[in-house]
Amino acid sequence: MTDGTSGGRKSRRAAASASGATPFSPSASPVRPVPDSPQSLDTRVVTYIRDLIEAGSLSPGDRLPAERDLAAQLGVSRTVLREALHTLAAFGLVDLQHGRGVFITAGSTRATAERLTLALPVNDSAQRLHDLFEIRRVLEGAAAEWAAERATEAQIAELRAIVREADAIYAHEPLDVAAAGALDARFHATLAAASANRILVQLMVALVDELGVSRGRSLSIPGRPQKSAQQHERLLDAIAAHDASAARRAMLQHLNDVERSIISLDLATRAPGQ
Ligand SMILES: [Zn+2]
Repeated sequence: MTDGTSGGRKSRRAAASASGATPFSPSASPVRPVPDSPQSLDTRVVTYIRDLIEAGSLSPGDRLPAERDLAAQLGVSRTVLREALHTLAAFGLVDLQHGRGVFITAGSTRATAERLTLALPVNDSAQRLHDLFEIRRVLEGAAAEWAAERATEAQIAELRAIVREADAIYAHEPLDVAAAGALDARFHATLAAASANRILVQLMVALVDELGVSRGRSLSIPGRPQKSAQQHERLLDAIAAHDASAARRAMLQHLNDVERSIISLDLATRAPGQ
């Protein structure tokens, strides 16, 4: 049983900082606190930067720490960090300036304010998963269709570069699952940006936490990342061919397949009688 405080990430953090006390006291309760969420590693980067903006520690124009320091601080590989930063750039939240560094954009502060307004509590229940994929089919089905109609050659080239990078990652054994997840996030963000609908992009930003949780779960499924990579390639081919209905179809097939994988994982891991 939970104590009804799910979604209390913010309140817990606020309480901890207000009292100055250690947030968790293992001796106080026999139940260990559930981690905030089984986030994928790249989502950790996104939420970290977002939290710094929220706390007022980062403002538009500020430069992020050097890649090496930031990766160490966050406990992620430099590959994952780089992909996550590209995802943030596709969403318009940071500006990657070659040779100069990564800068916070004005859009970043606005998106943070919007996220606070939406304040979607994250949870990973079966109903929530169903709701999430239903809305992903609406948003990303449209994004794929519009991307096929509107993507610039540069955006298609970027999607192609992401797919190629994925091939390189999949060629290595054992698979770097975190890097594969970060690339998946970047692919979907870049595709959303190619839809040229800014509200759609903002809605995707609002779903970043939620998407991170489901990605974290699907990545743990053997063979899932490889399957997704093939589906991304098919999706990209339809976008590059400017075939809107094929692009929508490929996106829906991809999302349905990922959702089914997570549902069967849940069924397989649920203990009998629960
Ligand atoms: Zn995907």
